[in-house]
Amino acid sequence: MADPQGVLIVVERSDTGMAPITAELAGAGAQLAKALGQDLSAAVCSDSASSPGLVQAVGRLGVKRVFVAEHAALAGFQIEAHLAALEQVIKQANPRVVLLGKTVQGRDLGPRLAFRLGCGLAQDCVEIGWDQGRNTLQAVRPVYGGASQARVLVVTSPAFAALRPKAFEPVPETAGATAEVVKVAVSLDSIGPVAKLVNRTKQEAAGVRLEDARTVVSGGRGLGGPEPFKVLHELATALGGAVGASRAACDAGWVPYPYQIGLTGKSIGADLYIAIGISGASQHLAGISGVKNIVAINKDGEANIFKEARYGVVGDWSKVVPAFLQAVKEMASR
Ligand SMILES: Cc1cc2nc3c(=O)[nH]c(=O)nc-3n(C[C@H](O)[C@H](O)[C@H](O)COP(=O)(O)OP(=O)(O)OC[C@H]3O[C@@H](n4cnc5c(N)ncnc54)[C@H](O)[C@@H]3O)c2cc1C
Repeated sequence: MADPQGVLIVVERSDTGMAPITAELAGAGAQLAKALGQDLSAAVCSDSASSPGLVQAVGRLGVKRVFVAEHAALAGFQIEAHLAALEQVIKQANPRVVLLGKTVQGRDLGPRLAFRLGCGLAQDCVEIGWDQGRNTLQAVRPVYGGASQARVLVVTSPAFAALRPKAFEPVPETAGATAEVVKVAVSLDSIGPVAKLVNRTKQEAAGVRLEDARTVVSGGRGLGGPEPFKVLHELATALGGAVGASRAACDAGWVPYPYQIGLTGKSIGADLYIAIGISGASQHLAGISGVKNIVAINKDGEANIFKEARYGVVGDWSKVVPAFLQAVKEMASR
């Protein structure tokens, strides 16, 4: 067999097409491929109805080649079918590195796929690069609840890495860009007993999705109860953003768990994050490592969040936030 070559990203689907993580994988993958002096490819596993759209979308991300496995069993996300298809795609593509998202789908696929191929996987990577000296993939991943960072080497070939959403810059789409298409004839006849998706419940949400919001106004235990979240919603609306929360606020039942940001919540990559009454525990910070500007409002000047914040206000939220909201409204009406 020829030596493994290049970087392969696993294209992820959403309800509406290609999931945003794919552009982040392409961004990180392109840099890695450049360091290797090799090509960037993508793997699309889908049914024949959806795959042309996905191939076009991933082509606009600048990948050189798309390996396409088409099968009726790949219409939705059925884990065993996707595992079997990807295993065959990877064997044919023979890449040096495989990148997936540390998303719900990626968490399911990555470890099982790597195990099947007898390879190593670096989970939850926030940085990746190529160690030229050791000729190996190197990755940085938060450990101990985000309190520390581990630098790991994945010495197998291919080397698998699951990338944390919002930790890598998405590659912008280039209109009209296309990729070479390589069809992979996959056999899914012997996938054995399969898990069956019996129901999907979609949470109805108004406004911008937390994961996609450029501005996030977030509340913690310091708010003292559910009521103040009304003001946070007002502020988020005035700023065109979304509302998030610390785990303490979710555990207290003040807002539902989909609001939670952090290690066991969502990772966000907003331009502006306003943390109100949040102390800045490492597990919370793990979810905002991709944020560009943190503004902290906290009555304790020693709170850890101030170490991470670009701007900080030491004060009681009940005085600071309504005054800030008023100022934002006045600016908006000018
Ligand atoms: C395995 C594990 C996973 C975890 N995952 C997550 C996670 O995903 N996300 C997460 O957030 N946490 C997570 N946690 C919990 C985390 O360790 C913290 O307990 C939590 O983040 C604290 O939330 P907080 O900052 O809202 O509360 P606190 O730490 O209690 O901080 C409240 C802050 O509010 C300030 N304050 C109080 N009154 C006011 C006022 N009137 N005005 C302004 N400021 C005020 C205080 O000075 C304080 O700094 C996890 C923990 C573990 C062990």
